[in-house]
Amino acid sequence: MTARVLIVDDVPANLKLLDAKLTAEYFDVFKASSGLEALEAAKEQQPDIILLDVMMPGMDGFEVCRRLKAMPETEHIPVVMVTALDQPKDRVQGLEAGADDFLTKPLNDLALFARVRSLVRLKMVTDELRMREATGQRIGALTASGDNFLMGEPGRILVIDDRPTSLKRITETLANEHHVTVAETQEELVRLASSGDFDLHIVSLTLQEYDGLRLCSQLRSIEATRQTPILAIVEEGDTGRLVRALDMGVNDYLVRPIERNELVARARSQLRRKRYQDYLRDKFQQGLELAITDGLTGLYNRRYMEGHLATLVEEAANTGKSVALLIFDIDYFKAVNDTYGHAAGDMVLKEFAERISGNVRSVDLACRLGGEEFVVVMPDTDLAYAMTIAERLRQCVAAKPFRLDETGRTLDVTVSIGIGVTHGPHDTVAKLLERADQGLYRAKRDGRNRVVAEAA
Ligand code: GH3
Ligand code: MG
Ligand code: MG
Repeated sequence: MTARVLIVDDVPANLKLLDAKLTAEYFDVFKASSGLEALEAAKEQQPDIILLDVMMPGMDGFEVCRRLKAMPETEHIPVVMVTALDQPKDRVQGLEAGADDFLTKPLNDLALFARVRSLVRLKMVTDELRMREATGQRIGALTASGDNFLMGEPGRILVIDDRPTSLKRITETLANEHHVTVAETQEELVRLASSGDFDLHIVSLTLQEYDGLRLCSQLRSIEATRQTPILAIVEEGDTGRLVRALDMGVNDYLVRPIERNELVARARSQLRRKRYQDYLRDKFQQGLELAITDGLTGLYNRRYMEGHLATLVEEAANTGKSVALLIFDIDYFKAVNDTYGHAAGDMVLKEFAERISGNVRSVDLACRLGGEEFVVVMPDTDLAYAMTIAERLRQCVAAKPFRLDETGRTLDVTVSIGIGVTHGPHDTVAKLLERADQGLYRAKRDGRNRVVAEAA
């Protein structure tokens, strides 16, 4: 994996050494020798990660970190503070300034590279979501909004640690702010986690009876927990295990003996990131649904149908299979509105959509083109089969009256249906729609409430 790394240190020799080490690992390195330079470089170069010295004349690392995290252009870039300070209170100060980690000089190279790789990989997830959001806004499916996803709600945390004193310390410390659940065994942890009900998993990598690394990899492979952050607990100096954990996708770690404030700070920052990602994901999902479905009936809209149809027609041309398209237009629908009102018309449209979508295969795509016109796209379907289905759908509409309102008034409704089926490898979406339209036109002309297939 290659990544763009910005290193910041006021001592030229330190910069040179770190540059050499990282370059040898094929990272792209940028350098800054003061806080101000670092802020400029971060904005301009948009590195994937920043390694930041703490003690610098002028603006120190804590202040640089705070400013980076306060600017929209740089807030998403992970920051690792690198320092000779190794007191818990220094680490906590760094984490509270928004740093993602705190490494102590002299740097252990393996741990450093593993941490850089891990933070860069984690950043890719957020980057992808941020890009989707930007695209969503550009195409008008998402609106920019100031939703506050960092609300200080308590997190739901699941812990496994078989050392009684350490477990007690974790649960007592976190219970002030969060809901903490303890798993006694590996099976229990996996079972509880699989519910997807937790925002953070804390896993000891030094369990007596279980392999903590295996547990973490299990959590990463289960769909419900794939995206949930893991905070691992490691033994001081156990670099081998730490490196493997980070490479496996563990988000962050604590070294024993666990320091309370550090635990609080690290848990908080994992929860904050999870909420941000959940927020982006939900928003994207909602935007996607709005963009491709019809608000009244919940069916796919014309835009989606056209995109999907193009894919299917292309595939059909390559495989020699045929795609069928049914176009529906409700008969004399204007009269429904004129006689019973627009709301009654809407009820009919909704029920119509349900009857259609409930009577086709799951591979068939039911859409509302607009107004009282609908389409069903049927992959791998020939004319004879399409005729059968269209006739069944026509009957399913005509057979039973539609409800008009809550009082139970009903009305008989019929529909006319035109069918088009792709023909040969050079057929196009436009021609297919045209044939289906021709069929519909004839069905209307010949008296409505009927199915007509137009030959290619
Ligand atoms: P035909 O049998 O020839 O199809 O006659 P028609 O009355 O169904 O056709 P026309 O295209 O003249 O009328 C369609 C009507 O559909 C007109 C419009 O008021 C109504 N309509 C379109 N969209 C909606 C909607 O979202 N809700 C309701 N209630 N009515 C709608
Ligand atoms: Mg019409
Ligand atoms: Mg009509």
